[in-house]
Amino acid sequence: MSNMQLDTLRRIVQEINASVSLHESLEIMVNRVAEAMNVDVCSVYLLDERNQRYLLMASKGLKPESVGNVSLQVGEGLVGLVGQREEIVNLDNAPKHERFLYLPETGEEIYNSFLGVPVMYRRKVMGVLVVQNRESQDFSEAAESFLVTLCAQLSGVIAHAHAVGNIDVFRKFNNSTTYKTFQGVSGAGGIALGRAIILYPPADLAAVPDREAEDISDELNLLDQAVQSVRTEIKALDEKMQDSLISDERALFSVFLRMLDENALPAEIKELIRNGSWAQGAVRRVIDKHINLFSLMEDDYLRERVADLKDLGRRILAYLQEAESGHRELSADSILIGEEISTAALVELPVDKIAAIVTSEGATNSHMVIVARALGIPTVVGVTELPVNTLDDVEMIVDAYQGRVFINPPRRLRQRYKDVQKEEEQIAKDLKQYETRDAITPDGHVVPLYVNTGLMIDVVRGVQRGAKGVGLYRSEIPFMLRDRFPGEEEQRAIYRQQLSHFANKPVVMRTLDIGADKDLPYFSIEEENSALGWRGLRFTLDHPEIFSSQIRAMLKASIGLNNLHILLPMVTSVSEVEEVLYLLERDWVAVQEEEQVKITKPKIGIMVEVPSVLLQIDEFADLVDFFSVGSNDLTQYLLAVDRNNPRVANVYSHFHPSVLRALYRLVGECRKYNKPISICGEMAGDPLSAVLLMAMGFNTLSMSSSNILRVRKAICHTPFSDAEQLLEEVLRMNNPLVVKSWLEHYFKTHGLTDMVKSSRLVV
Ligand code: PEP
Ligand code: MG
Repeated sequence: MSNMQLDTLRRIVQEINASVSLHESLEIMVNRVAEAMNVDVCSVYLLDERNQRYLLMASKGLKPESVGNVSLQVGEGLVGLVGQREEIVNLDNAPKHERFLYLPETGEEIYNSFLGVPVMYRRKVMGVLVVQNRESQDFSEAAESFLVTLCAQLSGVIAHAHAVGNIDVFRKFNNSTTYKTFQGVSGAGGIALGRAIILYPPADLAAVPDREAEDISDELNLLDQAVQSVRTEIKALDEKMQDSLISDERALFSVFLRMLDENALPAEIKELIRNGSWAQGAVRRVIDKHINLFSLMEDDYLRERVADLKDLGRRILAYLQEAESGHRELSADSILIGEEISTAALVELPVDKIAAIVTSEGATNSHMVIVARALGIPTVVGVTELPVNTLDDVEMIVDAYQGRVFINPPRRLRQRYKDVQKEEEQIAKDLKQYETRDAITPDGHVVPLYVNTGLMIDVVRGVQRGAKGVGLYRSEIPFMLRDRFPGEEEQRAIYRQQLSHFANKPVVMRTLDIGADKDLPYFSIEEENSALGWRGLRFTLDHPEIFSSQIRAMLKASIGLNNLHILLPMVTSVSEVEEVLYLLERDWVAVQEEEQVKITKPKIGIMVEVPSVLLQIDEFADLVDFFSVGSNDLTQYLLAVDRNNPRVANVYSHFHPSVLRALYRLVGECRKYNKPISICGEMAGDPLSAVLLMAMGFNTLSMSSSNILRVRKAICHTPFSDAEQLLEEVLRMNNPLVVKSWLEHYFKTHGLTDMVKSSRLVV
């Protein structure tokens, strides 16, 4: 592609990125493409999945009245052909083609040449981009590659534009009962019916949702006060800088003040408020509009003013948010939605009031999801097309088993899901009997089930559900709930609670595992490739003072209880463990001296998360007392697939043959060196994989408290001999989906249908 074309492409993409609605994006796209390629027609058809039709969404060249009205069935016409084949169709005489469909509304019969390119997003056809010319002539290869490149860029933009939505869509959603469905990835199972409440980060203009003003005059007053405060702030800044900057350099302040003139930005914002928007949303829209205009300017000086506009917008927003907390009160059926929700933001809320969580970003094994699962909150993540900002207070159903979200669901669907909820309650009641039973197979094999903890609620539920110990205490969770690193004494008290609730039972405490998706609000680690970066033990070894205060607090907390085990996360090399052992010994001696008591030396284990460890079990076995598999990370690193990236969620599977075979061999190695091995990743809490892990010979399985009863039931109903046979069979399979279906088939045919998530299909 020539430099000129690349430049045109960049401009089109930039312009589209800056647009405020999907409709506007598509309009820009067809106009700019027609102009750049000098063609008679450029049109975009988007796939309406529900009706299985391609709808003409925008066109330059076809009759304007056909836009929004003309549609084709998925298999119909040349557009349908492009979609079906998922490849380019380039014709010099389209009307002659057998698939040509004459649509009188568009007036297209006079166009002879046709070039159609599929718009693909995550392997799915989202739509078709078509250019047409009167002249009968093949489009060139350069034209093809221009459109292919454009469509690849645009597919994400279309998905995102969909996701961000705008106030018009918002009105449509709120004022009518437009029923829509969205697909994401299941994070934590369950079903919820309720109303959406948007969780958005403060002082982030882009994240401000569209919301209707409750009281227009209140919003106008709020805006006046905020604008006045910003004016005062800027004047003060101007004065402060008088000695350090010359007047030219301070010109920016007067630009700001002019923008804040009653007739400038505030007038536009007020107009939107008078039309029904709340002040924060109106500020976002007006600032966005001006940013778009500025970014298109040729003049460098003006383009650079974009940053100033953003700054101004943020200043106004900060005052508005100060005046109003921004978050609506949660009620019992609140469905929390957001682009991304952090663990810290989640646990700050009254979690017992959250009926479900839905995010447009994120993937199934992120930290937030693990916590949500522990709390038993149905969660769907990676709903990339969810128009988050437009869904405030909208009625929703979340089917977290299937990863589906229904917006403004019809009455019959609501009824159907209410029935399913009742069935769910019945299943939960049935599972209650397993609270007091042991996990013993019908042929007498015992599997100790441990609980994963982090919050106190996990401990309470773990005890109630008969956990035989804590297999993984995620010590970073209490760190996430604070606004600074907790001190040694503060930590001691937290750890003591964990240890004493499980007195006489083993409690495996993992040292701080931060980095990657586990950010502390007060210690953000920003890295390009964070999953492979400064995380877990790599971080704590670089900060021995943080590591030591944690170890000392754990040792002190264990005095008299003697049930502490210490687990090291993200171990890669033997030398790291040697270093830790030195620090541990030093702290152990020191704490005993200080406290004047004898402290039982904790058993030390490492997590098997990095594949390098799999190949050095013999050497690690010389140094440590036990191993614990972190299958979430091990799967991520073995398959080279980001556990938090929804785009590759289909590649991430703990049923992948290489994961299963690696674990099987690992258990054999640990046996050889006489070291206990447990597993504490999410795989242990999935009944389907749990029976395989039992057959492999894991000494204990540790899982979220919300999965204990299901796994216990599965074990109580699966003879060990059956599990061994299943294991032998799946170890010979080469496809994760086949492995999963095989296990599901076994469960369904052995009275364990309720253990198989997908069996609860409703629609
Ligand atoms: C794991 O990686 O499987 C694990 C248990 O640790 P975390 O999910 O906290 O990274
Ligand atoms: Mg891990």
